[in-house]
Amino acid sequence: MFAKIHYYLKSFLFLELLKGMSVTGRYFFRRKFTVQYPEQKTPISPRFRGLHALRRYANGEERCIACKLCEAVCPALAITIESEQRADGTRRTTRYDIDLFKCIYCGFCEEACPVDSIVETNIFEYHFENRGENIMTKEKLLEIGDQYEAQLAADRSADAPYR
Ligand code: SF4
Ligand code: SF4
Repeated sequence: MFAKIHYYLKSFLFLELLKGMSVTGRYFFRRKFTVQYPEQKTPISPRFRGLHALRRYANGEERCIACKLCEAVCPALAITIESEQRADGTRRTTRYDIDLFKCIYCGFCEEACPVDSIVETNIFEYHFENRGENIMTKEKLLEIGDQYEAQLAADRSADAPYR
């Protein structure tokens, strides 16, 4: 009985409506956090795991030694590596593909790499328009690494926040 009276009182006095309006009113005058993307962007952590890249040493040599640890650790089986021995006895990849449709951006490949070769950049604005573009080839990965090396090095330096 009491519950019914309470229910009708709430309905007649518009209590729930007033409660809702009070929440609206409270937030109406508060500082807004709406970000006008893409003109405005929020800060990205140096640990952000975006598009992959392969890095080189300062002398231009590829860091990757084709140890295949990244391929072995990848839970999504997204990495395919083929390798060969060079004339100077070093081992390098002849194929390094990452299928971005399979990748779950877990960062395991990056963590497993002993030479800091495969890394994940803070690039998150990318898309594919044609079939097959989801495969990041060695050439594409090295190109991204070359382009963003300064940022990649800074994010991995001892001074970077949250390392
Ligand atoms: S981020 Fe994870 S899922 Fe993606 S390639 Fe690396 S190990 Fe595989
Ligand atoms: S990227 Fe790193 S972990 Fe993967 S094969 Fe090359 S050296 Fe090994």
